Amino acid sequence: MHKVDYIVIGGGSGGIASANRAAMYGAKVVVIEQSHLGGTCVNLGCVPKKIMWYGAQVADTLNLYAKGYGFTVDNTFRFETLLKNRDAYIERSRASYTRTFDKNGVQVIDGLASFIDNHTLEVNGEFYTAPHILIATGGKPSVPDVEGVELGETSDDFFGWTTLPKSVAVVGAGYIAVELAGVLNSLGVKVDLLVRGDKPLRYFDDMLSDTLVSEMEKSGVVLHKHAITKSLHRRLDGLLTLTTRTGQAIDVERVIWATGRTPNTHKLGLENTDIVVDELGFIKTDDYQNTTVSGVYSVGDVTGRPALTPVAIAAGRRLSERLFNGKTNEKLDYHLIPTVIFSHPAIGSVGLTEKQAIDEFGKEEIKVYTAEFASMYTAVTDHRQVVKMKLITQGEHEKVVGLHGIGYGVDEMIQGFAVAMKMGATKKDFDNTIAIHPTGSEEFVTMR
Ligand code: FAD
Ligand code: NDP
Repeated sequence: MHKVDYIVIGGGSGGIASANRAAMYGAKVVVIEQSHLGGTCVNLGCVPKKIMWYGAQVADTLNLYAKGYGFTVDNTFRFETLLKNRDAYIERSRASYTRTFDKNGVQVIDGLASFIDNHTLEVNGEFYTAPHILIATGGKPSVPDVEGVELGETSDDFFGWTTLPKSVAVVGAGYIAVELAGVLNSLGVKVDLLVRGDKPLRYFDDMLSDTLVSEMEKSGVVLHKHAITKSLHRRLDGLLTLTTRTGQAIDVERVIWATGRTPNTHKLGLENTDIVVDELGFIKTDDYQNTTVSGVYSVGDVTGRPALTPVAIAAGRRLSERLFNGKTNEKLDYHLIPTVIFSHPAIGSVGLTEKQAIDEFGKEEIKVYTAEFASMYTAVTDHRQVVKMKLITQGEHEKVVGLHGIGYGVDEMIQGFAVAMKMGATKKDFDNTIAIHPTGSEEFVTMR
């Protein structure tokens, strides 16, 4: 039996952050990772996605905007160059994790960890125990239960594509569906987006989802509303036919299921423990990331909290501060988590939607401010794109409880506003802040 101070299962965002923080305080730490260090974010998520998004942004600049600025460009696109440079970047990220682990003395074990009892793990036939064990095993794509589902692919597969198809149907309505649909469309692929409701991102503020729909449709994405997939078949010529419950048939080269993610707990041996999961399989944790077994904790996507890398990192680090640095009350405040969706155009959002604010405080308590303009970057071209912003305030002091934006540059605008909101900023604080001109973000402090 190997004994250490801290065992971390999963070398992804949350696991790496927690392991390094614990090791910095002198703990003997082992990280068990079944695949590549970096987890979903580095290998199959944020990082490759953002590089593809930047690639799409370059394509938009060349194809849509360059002409308006007087440029004639040769926009030959070599997908393989983008992939080569993207993958080299990922490789460098993985290497940097290994270097930091080496520096901090964190041991990495390459293998799948499985509980054999509440405090013992088996990895590659060896047994490990520690007074503190962290489960940070993340999630994986879930696919719908339809005939021919195996003919479709997921975001994991998308990052392995070596050629770009001519046509893709993306099924789903969340972050991944709209991000991949936008990237593919900008890179010249014909995209059909199938949502089972009336629009994608329907849990976000209506201004965001409605504007996204109109901008996506303007850019060429074909949106199919109330389209529930019934089956997928391979035709003799190799194309796929996706049939919806209403009988609509869509022929495409590839289909991506972007219908959500499910927690990675299946091979973890939880049945040998007293660790409780919820009805969707997420590990139940309290405010301090404790599971139902003393000495076993969990952070990140596997807990069903907002599935974002900075959330997993922050929870992991705070847990290590609590366990290994004597900060007994350290925990993550999950309130007011800012988020950006790298759609086309990008979306940024912090706090309550207008509807949520009204439901929570009552209509009379809520005052909403909006701004709408053509982004200056696109306004001098033939492809004008709208920017829309919204501030939702509550009470007589007009505390800002929701801040939302969609449009060019919004992705880089909202981090600082999230700080202000976390500090309890009011509309007056926004008004008292001098605008930076000419920018898009100045609209957030000049709304009337
Ligand atoms: P993960 O990063 O998933 O790490 C879990 C690790 O555990 C994996 O490496 C896995 O191999 C390992 N593991 C699982 N089971 C075992 C086992 N039994 N034994 C050993 N190892 C095991 N978030 C953002 O904030 N911004 C973005 O732009 C963004 N884009 C995304 C794009 C896509 C396509 C996807 C899929 C996700 C994206 N996310 C983004 C979400 C982000 O990737 C996750 O929230 C984050 O990676 C969660 O970190 P984690 O530590 O919980 O799990
Ligand atoms: P999401 O939970 O964001 O969205 C999945 C959506 O797909 C559901 O909300 C649902 O929308 C729809 N859906 C579910 N089942 C089906 C079905 N059977 N058929 C058709 N549609 C279905 O999941 P994602 O996989 O897109 O992303 C997972 C998480 O990863 C995100 O929630 C986010 O936290 C994180 N992420 C973050 C990113 C970022 O920070 N930029 C980027 C990518 C992912 P509806 O009910 O409306 O039909």
